[in-house]
Amino acid sequence: MLIVQKFGGTSVGDLERIQNVANRVSETKKKGNDVVVVVSAMSGETNKLVGYAEYFSKNPARAEMDMLLSSGERVTASLLSIALQEMGHDAVAMTGRNAGILTDSSHTKARIEDINPNAIYKAVKEGKIIVVAGFQGVNEAGIVTTLGRGGSDLSAVAIAGAIQADLCEIFTDVSGIYTTDPRIEPKAKKLNAISYDEMLELASLGAKVLQNRSVEMAKKLNVNLVTRSSFSNEEGTLITKEENIMEAPLVSGIALDRNQARISLMGVKDKPGIASDIFNKLADAEVNIDVIIQNKAHDGMTNIDFTVPVSELHDAKKIVDTFVQSGDIADDSYNEDICKVSVVGVGMKSHVGVAAKAFSTMAKNNININMIATSEIKISMVVDEKYAELAVRGLHDAYELDK
Ligand code: ASP
Ligand code: MG
Repeated sequence: MLIVQKFGGTSVGDLERIQNVANRVSETKKKGNDVVVVVSAMSGETNKLVGYAEYFSKNPARAEMDMLLSSGERVTASLLSIALQEMGHDAVAMTGRNAGILTDSSHTKARIEDINPNAIYKAVKEGKIIVVAGFQGVNEAGIVTTLGRGGSDLSAVAIAGAIQADLCEIFTDVSGIYTTDPRIEPKAKKLNAISYDEMLELASLGAKVLQNRSVEMAKKLNVNLVTRSSFSNEEGTLITKEENIMEAPLVSGIALDRNQARISLMGVKDKPGIASDIFNKLADAEVNIDVIIQNKAHDGMTNIDFTVPVSELHDAKKIVDTFVQSGDIADDSYNEDICKVSVVGVGMKSHVGVAAKAFSTMAKNNININMIATSEIKISMVVDEKYAELAVRGLHDAYELDK
């Protein structure tokens, strides 16, 4: 098999751990696989470098930041390659540029535009283990760029896609994706497999494991991802195409998003175009709207409620205010003490009664549902923040996710 193995910051956190990673890579190679390794900087290193720059400037040039931050990954790539060579392997360290990663020019948050995998192919053919510095590429002019924080996941997935690897293993300090946050529900179970779309919906569970952008890229490039722990031999969670999952469960997991705020617009003039006007202005301000409900109009007025991330509430308020001032909205109110609980599963596409069970679970626990939104694979309920954990545990139990 051709395997890409990506090791995150904690996995290469000190020299001993880098040796550990070398042992693991060596094992994979000795089993007869071709291996391309992608590494992050040692944990804390990127932050340390950011701190160095801030000593000199509050607003350092972004091109300089890329030059600086890309060095962290080069350190681990070269050290790992040296360790592998010392173990008798033919290894070669590559920068993003050497690995053929071409990006646009938006420094510190560049997007990968193309990968020229020839250098990697050549080294693989020669039997080498390739160790690529993650998180970086070059623009057209050959100037180094970085892909945004957490971006070495993206490097790994993009490389895996470009060389059509059989597998892209993402090693971190957690052993996979769980049915819910084990800190809330200790009975949470590790999932064997999950589809890309479910993973994207369960972002709140996977956030520390895997960047959402990399899941999107994996889906686009059809890369089979496995997240697993670098500190044990436990099997991880496979993230793959829905078709590849045998016997998808009805529900895969329960996600919790505490980071939502509710905006209520009262006495909105009930005329064509008003919703479009409000939501277009919010979109222009890059406010992400999630759940929306509009009530039946009454006396030419209607109410519209929606949720936004707490961090975007301020921007949303400013826009809503302009409509209040012009008289198109009579009044508005805000509530930050809410959360969104979601039941996620591809299996619900072909089953009835999944939503009904979610609602009756809330009823049984005496939790009032403020808002509801559904998609093919998700039922989201907005409830008061104080019920967050009760709701998660209740749903986890109702769908028997501990079984
Ligand atoms: N070292 C970079 C960061 O901390 C990239 C990564 O680790 O994925 O964001
Ligand atoms: Mg990471």
